[in-house]
Amino acid sequence: MVTKQNKAIDFSDSLIAFKGQSDKELKRAAFLFRLMNYQWLVNISTTLGLWALKLRLPFVKKIMGATIVKQFIGGLSLSNCAPTITKLQSANVLTILDYGAEGKGTEADFIKTKEENIAAVHFAKVNDTIPIITAKISGFGSHELLETFQKGVPLSAKLQMEYNALLEKIDTICLAAYKDEVSVFIDAEESWIQTAIDHIATLMMQRYNKEKITVYNTFQMYRKDRYAYLEEAYEDAKKGNYLLGAKLVRGAYMEKERNRAQKMGYPSPIQDSKAATDTDFNKALKFCFDQYEKIGFCNATHNEQSCQLLAALISEHQVLKNHPHLLFCQLYGMSDNITFNLSNAGYNAAKYVPYGPIEDVFPYLVRRAQENTAVSGEISREYRMILKEITRRNC
Ligand SMILES: Cc1cc2nc3c(=O)[nH]c(=O)nc-3n(C[C@H](O)[C@H](O)[C@H](O)COP(=O)(O)OP(=O)(O)OC[C@H]3O[C@@H](n4cnc5c(N)ncnc54)[C@H](O)[C@@H]3O)c2cc1C
Repeated sequence: MVTKQNKAIDFSDSLIAFKGQSDKELKRAAFLFRLMNYQWLVNISTTLGLWALKLRLPFVKKIMGATIVKQFIGGLSLSNCAPTITKLQSANVLTILDYGAEGKGTEADFIKTKEENIAAVHFAKVNDTIPIITAKISGFGSHELLETFQKGVPLSAKLQMEYNALLEKIDTICLAAYKDEVSVFIDAEESWIQTAIDHIATLMMQRYNKEKITVYNTFQMYRKDRYAYLEEAYEDAKKGNYLLGAKLVRGAYMEKERNRAQKMGYPSPIQDSKAATDTDFNKALKFCFDQYEKIGFCNATHNEQSCQLLAALISEHQVLKNHPHLLFCQLYGMSDNITFNLSNAGYNAAKYVPYGPIEDVFPYLVRRAQENTAVSGEISREYRMILKEITRRNC
């Protein structure tokens, strides 16, 4: 357990956290995070924003572009992210490129996502501070396909073709990444398609993780069964002679998962309490750390205790702070106190940097605002931290 006395790292240094931000940027962030503390305001803004984007009201794009998009999005296109990447690099923070389009459904969309992901791989190849790009399996195939595949029933000829096309897409991305010495994080999604995602991620790890870690699957510790699955995935990797890549998260779809389980009358896969999620998350961290030579893993969280825990393990066992198998990561625009204090202390610290046109990244923005407002209180923590720096600067 991390106590005040044995903290491995100080996350309260607001000077280091916000060094790269001007007074104006800091005030904008304070304004936004203050608004996001109000659930009703987030709900109204979400509905209005969606409606205004559908009607293509230009002033809405302008307002969003100057506020919430600036806070959470690295750029409106890949090349547009360059200033963000340079800024992160100046504080030794790595970039993980995250093409932000979500919830798209046609083959043309799937092809576009594949092309964007490949462009990101090539972009990362020539930039040392971008070791990883992300990929979402639902960005390459329909939910219908993934759900049917997960149920284990035979696929219709149409779905079989779609499945082959999906595999071709993710394989092309992973192969390009393997050749370009870049890694791919495969994001975790809803439990009713996650078994299909696990299957595909495992196939890719078997192909591309033989001598180095190119592909990482994601393990959501808010699920009751995921710690056991992590152990199983490690055993499978040992037997199959490949290295396991594991991104550890708590999980982003809690309310959706619980609502569906209740509506459809099956037991919720989600842990019964936040404490149970935290226990499994920290257990998973410890498990990965114990075999860090064989598991490359990412501590993907805004939770300070979990970051303290890994920093303490690294220091206790005198492991290289910047060992390539150990990575901390937070989302762009959030928990800068964690990321920048970690990088300042010599750990591998990265930001997930989402990018894409406003219409495409809108669902991502909504998820950020709603998830944090409703569940974790993270926005309040952000707000407090920013206020601390504003007071320190007296600006
Ligand atoms: C770099 C990065 C990558 C990510 N990638 C993914 C991804 O691929 N897939 C994905 O699903 N999410 C992903 N997330 C989001 C992540 O799963 C969390 O939703 C988010 O980070 C908040 O959790 P936390 O560990 O940061 O912080 P905390 O504030 O400590 O935890 C909040 C989380 O705890 C859990 N929780 C809260 N209340 C309860 C409760 N009553 N019972 C049980 N559990 C509870 C929920 O998961 C909630 O999101 C990512 C996050 C980061 C930082």
